[in-house]
Amino acid sequence: MLDHNASVLLIYTGGTIGMIEDTTTGALKPLNFDYLSEYVPELKRLRFKIDIIQFEHPIDSSDMYPEKWKDLVRIIEDNYPLYDGFIILHGTDTMAYSASALSFMLENLSKPVILTGSQLPIGKIRTDGKENLITALEIAVDKDRQGNAFVPEVCIFFQNLLMRGNRTSKINAANFKAFNSFNYPILAEAGTNIIYQHNLILKPGEGPTKFHYWLDPNVTIIKLFPGISADTLRATMSIPHLKGIILETYGAGNAPTGNWFLNIIKEAAEKGIIIVNVTQCASGSVEMDRYQSGEMLKEIGVLSGYDTTTEAAVTKLMFLFGHGLSREEVREQMELSLAGETTIHSGNKY
Ligand code: ASP
Repeated sequence: MLDHNASVLLIYTGGTIGMIEDTTTGALKPLNFDYLSEYVPELKRLRFKIDIIQFEHPIDSSDMYPEKWKDLVRIIEDNYPLYDGFIILHGTDTMAYSASALSFMLENLSKPVILTGSQLPIGKIRTDGKENLITALEIAVDKDRQGNAFVPEVCIFFQNLLMRGNRTSKINAANFKAFNSFNYPILAEAGTNIIYQHNLILKPGEGPTKFHYWLDPNVTIIKLFPGISADTLRATMSIPHLKGIILETYGAGNAPTGNWFLNIIKEAAEKGIIIVNVTQCASGSVEMDRYQSGEMLKEIGVLSGYDTTTEAAVTKLMFLFGHGLSREEVREQMELSLAGETTIHSGNKY
């Protein structure tokens, strides 16, 4: 149900969507979003209020950092009572990381926070940005008859698909279908109508929305490959202040079974570093009991990340360590789903 008194806050962080072509040189340059409606005149026909905030210095999303996630949370918290929904325009390259981080930092949302962007600049005739933006705006204000938002969670909308943000990965650097959610179904699909899968969308719990700002970036990702050396592993494990590692393993969570490998992982676990096993496969889950090699990792204290994406797992570790939890508490919380990021029982609070 579309409410014509509705309002959306559009937050422009940077990325391809905000680029236009210089008419004389043809080079791409950032658009001043105050003039957005010149490029997307359809916005005027949406008949609800759209306010715009832009980062002072729009960034390519490869320059996204935890500090900027905090800036986004600050903007959303400050404006939360004033708008029905929030759209974050973001470069596609790290959009899945930002969506994952925000899903933990914005707890118990009652309003949509939708990230979108485009593969072609909004100032290009064939842009995919217009459609992504216009449909994301419609979704941001869609509500049921009682006035409850249809999608009170952090999502990515891209090429007709609305996905849970912390389930997404960027899958294509050129195609308009740039994202997928391999381990969780699509939340809504836009065709002639927008069809929502209401039973798959998170519902707000009791109590207010909470805004979290603490993140600890002392975590890293190790991707296994045949030939990875003991030196590489040891060098990584000895990074000062390292607290957690996302270990991208093979298949259902498998890794080399040689003592050289297991001993290094064991030493790190004994030093108190939390190691989480996620699969390099785009889809499917870690099952550490399935093969001996997974079983061996489990015995030395490696945790299963189940079907969590790397993007969600690494930002979840930052979030949990950021809250000053003990290693034991972080281990417990990593085994739970906090914001729908993992297909296991729901988490309690940290
Ligand atoms: N490099 C750009 C970015 O992520 C790509 C994009 O926007 O699609 O900011």
